[in-house]
Amino acid sequence: MRDEIESLGDDLWGRYEEWDVSIPPLPPRSRLYRLEPIGIGTPYVESLTGYIARLAEAHCVTPKDLVMLEIMPPQSQTGPLLNYYNRLCTFWIKNALTLNGVSPIARQWVERLESLTTCNNLTFLTMLTFHEVIALSRLLRQSKAWCSQCYEEWRQAHQVVYDPLLWSLNGIDICLRHRQPLVTRCPSCQKTLPFLTQTTRPGYCPRCTHWLGSRKGPLNMVGQSDESGVSTYQHWAAEVSGNLLAAAPSLAVLPSKKQIAIKVKAFLDQHAAGNVRKLARLSGVGFDALWHYLHQESVPYFDSFLKMCFALSITPLEFLSTTTISSLKDVGFNIESVPTISRGQRKHVTEDDVQRMRQVLEAVLAVDDQVDPFPSLNDVAKRMGFDASTVRRHCPDLSKAISWHYKNHWVEESRLGVMKQALEDALAHSEPESLANVARKLRCSTSSMWKYFPDLCRAIVTRYRERFDDALIEQRLREVLASDAENTAIQELAREMGYKRQFVLGRFPDLCKQISRRRYAERRRRREERIALLCKEIRQVAYHLHSQGIYPSARRVSQELGDSHAILSEAGRDAWCQALEALGYPTVHLKKNT
Ligand SMILES: [Zn+2]
Ligand SMILES: [Zn+2]
Repeated sequence: MRDEIESLGDDLWGRYEEWDVSIPPLPPRSRLYRLEPIGIGTPYVESLTGYIARLAEAHCVTPKDLVMLEIMPPQSQTGPLLNYYNRLCTFWIKNALTLNGVSPIARQWVERLESLTTCNNLTFLTMLTFHEVIALSRLLRQSKAWCSQCYEEWRQAHQVVYDPLLWSLNGIDICLRHRQPLVTRCPSCQKTLPFLTQTTRPGYCPRCTHWLGSRKGPLNMVGQSDESGVSTYQHWAAEVSGNLLAAAPSLAVLPSKKQIAIKVKAFLDQHAAGNVRKLARLSGVGFDALWHYLHQESVPYFDSFLKMCFALSITPLEFLSTTTISSLKDVGFNIESVPTISRGQRKHVTEDDVQRMRQVLEAVLAVDDQVDPFPSLNDVAKRMGFDASTVRRHCPDLSKAISWHYKNHWVEESRLGVMKQALEDALAHSEPESLANVARKLRCSTSSMWKYFPDLCRAIVTRYRERFDDALIEQRLREVLASDAENTAIQELAREMGYKRQFVLGRFPDLCKQISRRRYAERRRRREERIALLCKEIRQVAYHLHSQGIYPSARRVSQELGDSHAILSEAGRDAWCQALEALGYPTVHLKKNT
């Protein structure tokens, strides 16, 4: 064998490939899993609090353990341990609320989590990109809001369940995907939920562990002006805010405070001829606030910023990322951008008011009705805060012109075709729709619809009226009455079935009364039980202290009970006095005080 190898000689090394057996350098390991954040660069980007909850779940620990053992571990803290526990408490009570926003705490946490996971894009799970242009307060909601349908869909499709950043913004009240109002209370325990708690799990109520998703659509708020309870503004706000979040990672430069001043100045010059008061009226922002923005002394609150952008027909992204503005006419007319002029009912209409009224009416007359639906005088007057008759009295010529335009808008064949199509679509739709809603979407009056298509209108109205399922409501109410469980409030029952409280009350007054009475009695009984138990405890503690030779003062008893409020209640104080009396202590001075 050896001879053979030797005979091969140098040839051997040429015949086999060479292996490099040195150990390659390992890239640095991350302390925690490198959990990729969801949806960066999309309107549905994840929130930092949601990410922390997911990160905890990925490690099979609670957020409490993740925070205590990894993110804020005691050994990393300086100062006494007691301070550390105080800091932890403050975190859960106060700071966890601000993690998705623009606060220094948010920045600290992003940095800490980035170093623990080696993900370098966690900034976009917060609003930190906009920290220079949006005020810190009023940016985030006080408690969590979510779309039940989104949760349910993700779960059904075996996708990751998470909390988008958009849902945590103040002023965003609907889900972009489902166009339904966000839910703010747990359907099971009726409580509002904090963004992050020590036991938060994405998609579940941390208080009662109930699953928060639901396949049921939005609650139909019967009797509300808009059936889904969602206005054009809310849709717009959700959409443009989503676009703002989506654009954050691709912004070349972070928007600066100066940008707000530049944009306000541009609007001032272009639309208000340098008159700050006029721009304040047009934009719905206060004079002082505009002045501060112009001089870079303050930045807008997020919700005010959205409203200002809406009034000026510009998206927040454009406002923050471009220096020029397109003319208002290009953007199209929107009835909701008509400013409020009236200074309140019964207030005298001044010369100045009439002047502004005329400006608005002239602007409305300039609307290109080939492109945009023409508004009625009624609508415009209402937006300005006046009766149509007041507007007619002060500006007869312009009012007449608007009414004429509006009336003739629907006469043309092609437009009548559009109206008919809309009515037929509404009838064919699986969900019954009110005529008022169809009219609103089409931006025409219901009377015009009745005039041209009475049969279709009648069919829609009948179908809408018949949508209530009385039998189902009654059955549910009887079920509740028959069950032994604690009675739910009518308000909650109504909400659960998708109706308003008054509606259910109006249809089944007797059943509702029975439920309320039983609920009241039950609560009363429980209250009495609670008080009786408390009194018993107070007596026991007082006897116990006495037996040890200690005077059972209010402070000592409270201390023993671990509840400083117990003895403050009337029943608690009475129980304590009785116990003292029974033990032979003087109580006259105590009774005088009460
Ligand atoms: Zn949704
Ligand atoms: Zn709950």
